Amino acid sequence: MSDYAKARELGEEAREKEWSRPSFAKQLFLGDFRLDLVHPVPPLPDEATKRGEEYIRALRRYLDGHVDPALIEREAQIPDDVIKGMAELGSFGITIGEDYGGLGLPYLYYCRALMLVGSYCPALATLLSAHQSIGVPQPLKQFGTEEQKREFLPRCAKGEISAFLLTEPDVGSDPARLATTAVRDGDDYVLDGVKLWTTNGVIADLLVVMARTGRKISAFVVEADSPGITVKRRNSFMGLRGIENGVTEFSQVRVPARNLIGKEGDGLKIALTTLNTGRLSLPATCAGSAKWAVKIAREWGNARVQWGRKVGEHEEVARKIAFIAATAYALEAVCDLTARMADDQRNDIRIEAALAKLYASEMAWLAADELVQIRGGRGYETAESLAARGERGVPAEQVLRDLRINRIFEGSSEIMRLLITREAVDAHLSAAGELINPEKSSKKERALALKRASGFYAKWLPSLVAGTGNLPTSFGDFGPLAQHLRFVERTSRKLARSTFYGMSRWQGGLEHKQAFLGRIVDVGAELFAMTAACVKAEEDARDLGRKPYELADTFCQQARLRVEALFARLWDNSDSQDVRLARYVMEGRYTFLEEGILDPSIEGPWIGTPDGGENVRRHVRTT
Ligand SMILES: Cc1cc2nc3c(=O)[nH]c(=O)nc-3n(C[C@H](O)[C@H](O)[C@H](O)COP(=O)(O)OP(=O)(O)OC[C@H]3O[C@@H](n4cnc5c(N)ncnc54)[C@H](O)[C@@H]3O)c2cc1C
Repeated sequence: MSDYAKARELGEEAREKEWSRPSFAKQLFLGDFRLDLVHPVPPLPDEATKRGEEYIRALRRYLDGHVDPALIEREAQIPDDVIKGMAELGSFGITIGEDYGGLGLPYLYYCRALMLVGSYCPALATLLSAHQSIGVPQPLKQFGTEEQKREFLPRCAKGEISAFLLTEPDVGSDPARLATTAVRDGDDYVLDGVKLWTTNGVIADLLVVMARTGRKISAFVVEADSPGITVKRRNSFMGLRGIENGVTEFSQVRVPARNLIGKEGDGLKIALTTLNTGRLSLPATCAGSAKWAVKIAREWGNARVQWGRKVGEHEEVARKIAFIAATAYALEAVCDLTARMADDQRNDIRIEAALAKLYASEMAWLAADELVQIRGGRGYETAESLAARGERGVPAEQVLRDLRINRIFEGSSEIMRLLITREAVDAHLSAAGELINPEKSSKKERALALKRASGFYAKWLPSLVAGTGNLPTSFGDFGPLAQHLRFVERTSRKLARSTFYGMSRWQGGLEHKQAFLGRIVDVGAELFAMTAACVKAEEDARDLGRKPYELADTFCQQARLRVEALFARLWDNSDSQDVRLARYVMEGRYTFLEEGILDPSIEGPWIGTPDGGENVRRHVRTT
């Protein structure tokens, strides 16, 4: 079996295949706009709201009074007393149940906390989210035994820091190549291997480690001070300078068998399922940064005068301010809606959470880039340098650097598009599985599958011709935003038709048409964000007496233009030329392009692991 087929098979095995609850996004991709699934979202119980608001106020006071983000950036370290103070506030157990010593708050408040912390100090938000979303609490909450929960969750809630260790030097997006092994020996498993880029790994007390048990992958909770564990390095990056990210080596590390999470071989499934809700933390921090960008754009747009006008009044700058504001509104809407759906538990949110991660990381990056542009030369200058020469130390360049990783970790944008594609076209796949499975391409099988698929499409295609979006009065409750919901409804049907055309055209080859499928996903993300923005605007106006219509309306207008461009590029693009050109580039046909330059890279292998080295692990006393 080819490496590609192996990776695909492992991914398929790890996928949650059941759809026991409705999914707004899945239906959206099938041309069925189910607004009723996301509007109105049931409110949280009053008690939870009260406790959530109290926690956010306390967190805000603590950040304001005790956390110096400029110091964290300068020293590339979060002071231990900040970690301790955050732990005392309960920030390490926001969603851990009160029975296990946590705050037991709804997801909505976890996301609001991360939005707040992320706007102020992204490295601190990363520490919290790596601990809670992918570290020990989330997988144990979903898959742990009662005994495991009793043993580990109270420790996590109190502030013992956890980390999630999947990536290895030779394993990134493709866990099928995972090399770390866990071999059963009596009542223990014995772990050997090297894990790379372990966020929190340098200061962690508890680790979730993914290791191979035979052909499959299993997940373990591991005490970070176990004999045989060495943190060989603390890595540094383009941004998030304060995170404690390491290279962790396991050499004959004994882990009690009772620390296995779930069943042997369930590791990848656990990791993927954990991320279904875990992924919400990154959209929250992205929304926080985008909302901060609005504040700076407004203040600076007014304060800076050039060519006889405030810069915010020049049309080119005004457009950027509008983009930042509209995007921030939509990102908060996406985040709020998805978190509330996670709390409400009526819907399956695996596609929404993935869309939120993909969309928020891409859009917040664009918003931060526009902020740097609006700030002109000051956008490129560090906050420290600005402050040193007597100006306000606005960290715009830092936020851009800090945001960049969101497009790469917890599933890169490319991998998120693949994942969403797989989930979104699930109905097509069940109808025409063999038709598009490249491994089963015999003529007979394809003919049979074609017959089966025809039955499905004969029923489904006519439903895509007309819908509520064609009625000029539909969604009237949404006032001036109704037109955008009609657009979403119409476009969701167009999206489903386009997916079908793609399937008819490429059949088995569709799986490899990443650019085509990526655009389908990106349209879906825009439609989801438009829906979230309209739902939020309607609620903001009704419940809070705010006037958000221009924000939501302008966002929808901007999103519609992006959607139209994406549709146009489905069929009119340079994809095949690009693929050919990339092949030629990789074959070395154009090495002449590299003449006249000098490569400053430091010599070394492309993929390697540090040998030797001190153990740089350190313990942070939080209790
Ligand atoms: C600051 C930081 C913190 C991190 N924290 C953690 C952590 O706490 N725990 C942990 O386990 N890992 C962590 N990671 C690792 C992170 O999750 C990986 O970097 C990420 O999964 C991508 O893997 P990779 O870097 O090996 O890229 P690769 O998998 O080598 O990919 C290289 C490029 O190819 C693209 N690509 C790969 N496969 C495909 C495909 N099939 N189709 C299309 N494009 C493809 C990718 O999107 C990417 O653009 C962290 C990384 C960083 C930098």
